[in-house]
Amino acid sequence: MKIYVESDVEQGKAGVSRIAVIGYGSQGRAHALNLRDSGIDVTVGLRPGGPSWQRAEADGIKVAPPARAAAGADIVAILVPDMAAPRVWRDIESSVKPGAAILFAHGFNIHYGSIQAPDSIDVILVAPKGPGALVRRQYEEGRGVPCLMAVAQDATGRAKARALAYAHGIGGTRGGVLETTFAEETETDLFGEQAVLCGGVTELVTQGFETLVEAGYQPEVAYFECMHELKLIVDLLHEGGLAKMHQFVSDTAKYGDLTRGPRVVDESTRERMRTVLKEIQDGTFAREWRAEYEAGMPRYKAMMAADMAHPIEQVGRELRARMSWLRTEQQDAA
Ligand code: NDP
Ligand code: MG
Repeated sequence: MKIYVESDVEQGKAGVSRIAVIGYGSQGRAHALNLRDSGIDVTVGLRPGGPSWQRAEADGIKVAPPARAAAGADIVAILVPDMAAPRVWRDIESSVKPGAAILFAHGFNIHYGSIQAPDSIDVILVAPKGPGALVRRQYEEGRGVPCLMAVAQDATGRAKARALAYAHGIGGTRGGVLETTFAEETETDLFGEQAVLCGGVTELVTQGFETLVEAGYQPEVAYFECMHELKLIVDLLHEGGLAKMHQFVSDTAKYGDLTRGPRVVDESTRERMRTVLKEIQDGTFAREWRAEYEAGMPRYKAMMAADMAHPIEQVGRELRARMSWLRTEQQDAA
């Protein structure tokens, strides 16, 4: 697989001098500030009176309502929550000039057809593989978070050059830019967060906690084992894969891992992972989530409230309050 770096960027060919960034949240703020510091003329598009407006002004960046920001821009980056994006698109569609590009950090709305772009514009994706705060901090330190890039529609013949120029402007070429498709980015991103990163891990943690508590062990001890210590393991995996984790845990832990792990997460789990993936691929998940969002998210809110009321959360709050160093780590991550 080719990894694009700084020397692959053709600034002239990209023809990018003005960029509108719609949304100033996790990704929007990081992209806007990095692009500005890379010498690009950036206007942030926000709803007047919304919480982000003041923040963008305080950062000294130009702010305008979304349609005004989009007018005349070479690239319009739509960095609002995925469920809010179709409405934002309706507001700005007529202001995006023919020959411009619209850009996303996640392929969801294009891939599932909830945003349909006219034939006269490029549709591109630049997705940093990290939260906005990291994208900003790495840039400030002269480094960059690796990005995925993709082209869904190339109206101008310059779509890829533009995606690369944008990735370069946010620092992505320092970390390396990998080419993908909207389908691959969207489906793997959803699968990862559902089966492994968010859904899979939280179920593993809470069910492990429940199993210990149900067997009569103290919730505080169960919390340390099943939630707190996860970070130590994840850090090792992140830094050096399975090999580094194995280097740092005991032989007993390794033997337990090799013999018991595959019994907890087994072939039947993989079968259900395949079903979850199929629901992503055939659009079932996207339709379900869109309908839930349009209905005011009643099931989402009820399930979230139940998760927040789980005993692991109560025990966790008390224990974390005694570990003062966690507060700075959380701020770093935010
Ligand atoms: P956020 O939730 O942080 O975006 C919030 C911003 O969107 C705020 O500026 C808010 O403005 C604005 N906004 C929210 N609702 C609306 C609305 N209805 N109309 C207009 N503006 C609105 O989003 P993220 O940065 O998390 O996500 C943006 C994109 O990046 C998504 O496509 C996401 O999938 C993708 N992405 C996110 C990553 C992450 O780490 N978070 C990682 C990689 C990709 P206001 O203050 O006025 O409400
Ligand atoms: Mg869960």
